[in-house]
Amino acid sequence: MHKVAAALAALVTAVVAGLVAIPLVIGGDSPPTAAASVCATGDSDAILATIRDRESGGDYHEASHARAAGYPTGSGNPTGAYQFLYATWAGYGGYREAYLAPAAVQDARARHDVITILATFGTVDWVPIVWYIGAGGARDVRAGKIGLDDVPNPAYNTISIGGYQARWLDAYQRITSSGDPTTTTTADAANVTTLPTAPGVATTTTIDATSTCAAAAIVDGDALPLPRTILDANPERLAAPHHDYPAIDLPASVGTPVYAIHAGVVTHITSYHDNCYTDTATCGDLCGVGISITDPDGTTWIYCHASQLDLTVGAAITAGQQIMLSGNSGHSSGPHLHVGIRVGGVDHCPQPLLTALYKTGRAVPANELPASGCTYTAATSS
Ligand SMILES: [Zn+2]
Repeated sequence: MHKVAAALAALVTAVVAGLVAIPLVIGGDSPPTAAASVCATGDSDAILATIRDRESGGDYHEASHARAAGYPTGSGNPTGAYQFLYATWAGYGGYREAYLAPAAVQDARARHDVITILATFGTVDWVPIVWYIGAGGARDVRAGKIGLDDVPNPAYNTISIGGYQARWLDAYQRITSSGDPTTTTTADAANVTTLPTAPGVATTTTIDATSTCAAAAIVDGDALPLPRTILDANPERLAAPHHDYPAIDLPASVGTPVYAIHAGVVTHITSYHDNCYTDTATCGDLCGVGISITDPDGTTWIYCHASQLDLTVGAAITAGQQIMLSGNSGHSSGPHLHVGIRVGGVDHCPQPLLTALYKTGRAVPANELPASGCTYTAATSS
């Protein structure tokens, strides 16, 4: 199954940028979704195995079929087990083409993309659509601008979007029901030992595969900001006071996905990657790498100390959408996520909202949150 569209470029940044909240509607030949099983343990392994199965037959060395199929050489060529385009892969660093990267590197990159797709589109049946025609194309499908019967890039493809999705989901069901997502163990091992390592390769991001569950846990229009598996380790933390003004700090290791609690539009981005305690005597930005999302009521939702953030001002964000990876940038004494909620310019306490979301599955409107009582010391302006 090597009918790969050349529209996979800029996959992740395209996935998270400019999303609008359009009801999830798939018509025609869409098979029933497997959404309910997205949270099952190991599902992201099964998803990765399905992509490998469909795209390259599990061949991490795959570099030839795109050329044989007549793709122009250069940025449009897909290679590797997941058929990343040159142009997409180039942004990841370290290897000229995906097929030159060890299997573990290709796997880590693909897993990150899959989690992002699930956080953005919600259900597993969107993974093949995004993989086939890119995130922008998937949004056009959702908006009804492109039909599932359309064949993208017909010079190189013969299968429709819906046809690809149906075959992909068939393979996914087969792999899931067989209970063995590892279809290419021997080839994987051979790749790791025989492929050259390139200097300067980016360290692989650690992503909790079970985080797709938290991304889907949207209640009352709000979502928890971290994977539930991380919050489970210390739920009391959701009620812990902040140091000296209403907000909350939640421990999270570097690379943990962070989800928007509430929908809105990106109104501010900070991009200070250093740590103010260890890297520099002068702190460039207390928030480090961070983002402000303003909702239609004018409430601003603030997230700080990220390690990676690819959004831009003006992007529309849905609740539960992955917005960044947590980190230790800015005024941060250890890896954690800072969350602030500013109603009418006044800091309010996130603790009652987060505790309610976690324990009862019910949200609390931001304007009903207290503006004091959640700090270790008397509130001061920040
Ligand atoms: Zn804080």
